Amino acid sequence: MLPRMAVANDDQIAYAHLERSFRGDLVGPDHPAYEALRRVWNGSIDRRPALIARCSDRPDVVAALAFARRAGLTIAIRGGGHSFPGFSVADGGVVIDLGPMKRIDVDPERRVARAEGGVLLGELDRATQAHGLAVPLGSVTHTGIAGLTLGGGFGWLMRKYGLTIDNLLAAEVVTADGDVVEASAAENTDLFWGLRGGGGNFGIVTSFTYRLNPVGPTVVAGLVLWALEDGAEVGRFYREWALAAPDELTTALVVRRAPAVDLIPAELHGRPVIGVACSWVGAHDRGEAVLAPMRRFGTPIVDLVSRRPFVEHQGLLDPSFPHGIWIYSKASDVAALTDGVLEVMLDHGARVRSLRSGMIAWQLGGAAARVGVLDTAFSSTRNGYLMDVVGATDSADGFDVERQWARDCWDALAPHRTGAYVNWLMEEGDERVREVYGEERYRRLQAVKRQYDPKNVFHLNQNVVPG
Ligand SMILES: Cc1cc2nc3c(=O)[nH]c(=O)nc-3n(C[C@H](O)[C@H](O)[C@H](O)COP(=O)(O)OP(=O)(O)OC[C@H]3O[C@@H](n4cnc5c(N)ncnc54)[C@H](O)[C@@H]3O)c2cc1C
Repeated sequence: MLPRMAVANDDQIAYAHLERSFRGDLVGPDHPAYEALRRVWNGSIDRRPALIARCSDRPDVVAALAFARRAGLTIAIRGGGHSFPGFSVADGGVVIDLGPMKRIDVDPERRVARAEGGVLLGELDRATQAHGLAVPLGSVTHTGIAGLTLGGGFGWLMRKYGLTIDNLLAAEVVTADGDVVEASAAENTDLFWGLRGGGGNFGIVTSFTYRLNPVGPTVVAGLVLWALEDGAEVGRFYREWALAAPDELTTALVVRRAPAVDLIPAELHGRPVIGVACSWVGAHDRGEAVLAPMRRFGTPIVDLVSRRPFVEHQGLLDPSFPHGIWIYSKASDVAALTDGVLEVMLDHGARVRSLRSGMIAWQLGGAAARVGVLDTAFSSTRNGYLMDVVGATDSADGFDVERQWARDCWDALAPHRTGAYVNWLMEEGDERVREVYGEERYRRLQAVKRQYDPKNVFHLNQNVVPG
């Protein structure tokens, strides 16, 4: 039976054909799971697709794509559903949902892992850490590897082992015409270049093959917090200390109100704080020695740094980012944490109201900076700081105020901004996408787009217009 609202009568035959061949679930508005499945991670996105095609394998992806194109419906691709602007769901469209595609194959001898497009970060980490290995991924375990990888992927291992894309060996892609192609350093090299930062513009990636690196399984990692009143001293100390740190250390500077999570004493919840989140991948004693001056600096009010399993550290930020919170993101790279940048962080940090809002600056460099800026399509800096300002609430209540706070903070950063991470943009229009990639990279992306998706079938993303 065709899901109600899904397609016009002309397409009944095409839908019947899809139903016969499709092995996963076809979820229309009448399906009991529809309400839950139409929602994405960002609670402020409220869209009603005509159909959610829950794919169980690559042929399902090909069949769902063929049907959506035949019916002329907007196509949204979903991996983990964490796109801030909600690109993985479309009103009246078809969601090609790779969520059920969870297969992971780890080859510890060759140090290679292959993961299907529906795998989440935490799932891949658990599978690889069973062998003491890891792919550098992001910092919240329920994010999808698909969207994260296609945007670049930064996280706790990046200064030691590079970005996620720097560890991508190959991708299997279903193109707009339904062909299945492999992209790697040996095959379809232009496509491979574009996939490493160009988002979902070129096709549906059904599997990713990554290089694995030795990690842990225990790392020295955690979070130290100080009162925001001490922010100027902490910020200046952090800047010099982190710049001198070896590649084993990856850190981020955070300004926000202390979140109401179990790890933080209840009496501190809501207090404006500045914090350093950190992860050391290497010999524990040496890591503790490198971290000691930071942990001793001034008067920390919380110190959660300890030896802990890497998979546990990967979940450190999870409680602060539950599914369904309303979030608005303003992304910006800065070349350095100058006094001017720190001033903006502290000034706007002092004005934040919600316990969900805040800003974070991740320090790149190390292995991430040893890959050439045009060797991949990664939009952001490889040597400075990736900054994100998020205005967020638990529900619609107060969301406009937080969004405005994020915009004001971002405006204040204007003199310092150098670029942005494409995966942190909202829906900000073609010009902004072009600006973020920069002319040369954008022109190359357009050439790949013209080859693999000239009709812009895949346009629910930070869209590269074929031109
Ligand atoms: C809580 C949270 C924490 C985050 N932390 C980090 C972090 O530490 N590091 C980091 O780098 N980023 C981080 N991000 C940003 C994250 O990388 C992006 O939101 C990413 O797009 C999420 O991927 P997804 O598969 O979950 O999202 P989805 O919403 O499913 O997809 C995102 C985009 O990718 C496209 N897409 C998804 N799957 C495929 C596929 N198989 N083939 C082709 N296109 C596809 C979608 O169409 C959409 O345009 C975070 C985001 C959130 C919400």
